[in-house]
Amino acid sequence: MSNPCSVQQPVPLSAPAPRRSVQGHVSWGSHRVSVGGQAPVRVQSMTNTDTADAVATAIQVKELAQAGSELVRITVNNDEAARAVPYIREQLDRMGVAVPLIGDFHYNGHRLLSDHPDCAQALSKYRINPGNVGRGEKGDRQFAQMVELAARHDKAIRIGVNWGSLDQDLLARLMDENARRDSPWDARQVMYEALITSAIESAHRAEQIGLRRDQIVLSCKVSAVQDLIAVYQQLAARTDHALHLGLTEAGMGAKGTVASTAALAVLLQQGIGDTIRVSLTPQPGEPRTQEVLVASEILQALGLRAFVPSVVACPGCGRTTSTTFQELAKQIDDFLRQAMPEWRSRYPGVEGLRVAVMGCIVNGPGESKHADIGISLPGTGEAPAAPVYIDGQKVHTLRGEGIAREFRDIVQAYIEKRFG
Ligand code: SF4
Repeated sequence: MSNPCSVQQPVPLSAPAPRRSVQGHVSWGSHRVSVGGQAPVRVQSMTNTDTADAVATAIQVKELAQAGSELVRITVNNDEAARAVPYIREQLDRMGVAVPLIGDFHYNGHRLLSDHPDCAQALSKYRINPGNVGRGEKGDRQFAQMVELAARHDKAIRIGVNWGSLDQDLLARLMDENARRDSPWDARQVMYEALITSAIESAHRAEQIGLRRDQIVLSCKVSAVQDLIAVYQQLAARTDHALHLGLTEAGMGAKGTVASTAALAVLLQQGIGDTIRVSLTPQPGEPRTQEVLVASEILQALGLRAFVPSVVACPGCGRTTSTTFQELAKQIDDFLRQAMPEWRSRYPGVEGLRVAVMGCIVNGPGESKHADIGISLPGTGEAPAAPVYIDGQKVHTLRGEGIAREFRDIVQAYIEKRFG
């Protein structure tokens, strides 16, 4: 009998596949955010304030940008909102927040952009939903009007198809074609095809009207994980436009977070997706910035981006019955996150730091040695001492009540020395 261990093959390295989209950019003033191609996958978010309330909207955009959102979308749904956009932009500029603003248009975008040239100029990108620009020849004209305005103002656009507002004429056409097939497709496959065709045909029309390929981002959002994966795999195989990913109407709390993570992780690992948004319904009292946090964590967990130092912490078990290590892990995580806005410019590269906070001797020393800096707290029955490892070497042993403070000081000193 052959020994399965006798022939050793290296296990293939795991890494996200390279992306294949064309690279463009979205900019405001001299601030340029490259999108697509080899640019980092960008985090996008959307406000939920009334855009007509310029002050509230500017404050929320600032919060989202400070949390790490690199592009922020705002609803532009009526004249009051369109009039407020230049003021929102002005306030952000005054606060030193250069994040590009994306205007989200449905039904009347052609008119709002024409009637409010200051709004058209203040925005960096227009989101156009081909299912909501009107039907037939009128829809074609209104779509063309928005694209011409984007070309005139040198703005990017996102052709954002959504299965909740799919182009009904296109869907009817594809259903007729399907009925004539010898083996008709499943209704869901017709829906996939309608989403993809709507995005690609709209992009070709936008290019014919005058936009460059690198000014166009596509999205086809659906609300079920398997549908999203299937649609984007097909879309990416049929076009090299930059793609915006997001599970629409993902839901609240753990459900929305897990569903978005599951869908986006599969696609990002396959090299699909150039910007992402996590469409979480905020829970009562939850800040809007939660969606930025989740999107950033997805990219960081996949090793695609680094935003904040990561804290590796064990889940705890019967070997550590005290809450000390849970509290310390939380304190260190909070400490690192709160310090990041300042550290980002002061300590370049600090976002790649790995800190371990472990509960006992079983995996504590091992995991701590793998991290840049780690602490292994004493489990139940162990000597009351917490060894600290720096760059794989044990350099301190902490004891007593002040462990949390002392460890924080050690982390701070390490960051200063290594990244200062
Ligand atoms: S490191 Fe120790 S306390 Fe933490 S999960 Fe493992 S065995 Fe439990």
